[in-house]
Amino acid sequence: MIQPPNETPDTIQDVDRGDVDIAVIGAGIAGLVCAEQLRQAGYRVVVIEKSRGFGGRAATKRVPNFRADHGLRYLERSGRLLPVLIDALCDRDLLQPWNVRFCRVTPDGTLTPDLSPNPEPSAAISPQASPPSLNPIRGIIGISDAETPERTQVTANLVNPDQPSCQRYIAPAGANAIGKFLAQNLTVWRSRRAIGLLAVGDRWQVQLEAVAEGVDAPLSLTARAVVVAIPAPQALELIAATETIAPEIQATIAAVSYHPCLSVMAGYPAELAAADRGWDALQFTDDRALFWAGVESTKRKADQLCLTVHAAPEFARAQFDAPDLNACGQTLLDRLASHFPALAAHRPDFLVVHRWRYALIDRPFDRDCLSTRSPLPLVFGGDWCGTAQAETALRSGLAMAAEVTRSVDGRSLPTLDGMLTALGDGS
Ligand SMILES: Cc1cc2nc3c(=O)[nH]c(=O)nc-3n(C[C@H](O)[C@H](O)[C@H](O)COP(=O)(O)OP(=O)(O)OC[C@H]3O[C@@H](n4cnc5c(N)ncnc54)[C@H](O)[C@@H]3O)c2cc1C
Repeated sequence: MIQPPNETPDTIQDVDRGDVDIAVIGAGIAGLVCAEQLRQAGYRVVVIEKSRGFGGRAATKRVPNFRADHGLRYLERSGRLLPVLIDALCDRDLLQPWNVRFCRVTPDGTLTPDLSPNPEPSAAISPQASPPSLNPIRGIIGISDAETPERTQVTANLVNPDQPSCQRYIAPAGANAIGKFLAQNLTVWRSRRAIGLLAVGDRWQVQLEAVAEGVDAPLSLTARAVVVAIPAPQALELIAATETIAPEIQATIAAVSYHPCLSVMAGYPAELAAADRGWDALQFTDDRALFWAGVESTKRKADQLCLTVHAAPEFARAQFDAPDLNACGQTLLDRLASHFPALAAHRPDFLVVHRWRYALIDRPFDRDCLSTRSPLPLVFGGDWCGTAQAETALRSGLAMAAEVTRSVDGRSLPTLDGMLTALGDGS
């Protein structure tokens, strides 16, 4: 476990015993940014993460002889916050521009080359005022741009494939390098799922369950404030049994929904890489089965051709619980063959399909985070607080940190830039 360098021995013991100022649930971009903000402000913070990795949906999977990004495909230089993160990651060689042949596929199957990446992204972005809260309920605070960094509404390509694009960036070591970078000074209890919240006196008790065998105790944590930085439906499960949380909070979170996705990773012999297809990434518009396809092996050195294909929501919803996921994956590859005829003659050397139950936002919450102080400080957020995906996750992470300090003791927080500058290279 990496201990924050600026903590005193007493504090470390407290953290090890599971008594902290702030518990952050979820080690995705939103949770890690929030936790690091709070750590740099001097709070004792523990992050709880159910998986073994850092970064949540900014994820990388080991497949035979390769590492594939099966969640977040790339970061776009858009919005107000992502460029700051992108610059910090590029400075440390953790991210680099991804200049590949990107095409859009119209419903009739026509390929249109994407506009060349725009180095001046501001031209493509129109800052909008935050919309009024959908659900201004007493006791619930929907934090918006009045209190947090300026809100910029950017509908990313994944949500609106017609949106003009900006320069794209990928992590040569894999998208999970983003989470590793953000988590480098944080205490993260991995392979532990938060399963309940109980208000006991002036502290939250967070109940945990071990997800992997051999995970060390403790399996509970007490904290003055809790941040829940996980997809809204999972947040709803977490608080389902907490009677002291206002039903309006549950109703607000329940109104949020996500699209599922099936992410297919497939490897082919190297000679197929030479077969010209005219594209390296395809964004489909209104295809019932395909949403996106990318030549993953253009991101990092590979001895073979590796493709990542994302199912469209309609297909993913229909096939999510299919007993033979590989057959679903093959169906998607067969459909892709109309844009890459050489595929039709080959079976993949390997085929791995990952299910994302909560992949991309469908119905978002329209504020940067959702917060209550009754019975104790509790803040919710993540990429469901908007439609700009990683940009929203970043913005929500900052908003959650600001709201927690407000409800605890009002300490000041670093800027995003200042926070990132204080971090090393994540190795
Ligand atoms: C297939 C796919 C492609 C995408 N492509 C792009 C893209 O190109 N560009 C872009 O900007 N965005 C993209 N996104 C979206 C982007 O990945 C997300 O918007 C962003 O990573 C969300 O961050 P987050 O911190 O809000 O949530 P998450 O990344 O989901 O983090 C939540 C974390 O909480 C953990 N967790 C959940 N429940 C519990 C619990 N009870 N206890 C403990 N831990 C828990 C999870 O394991 C996870 O690590 C893509 C997503 C997917 C799935």
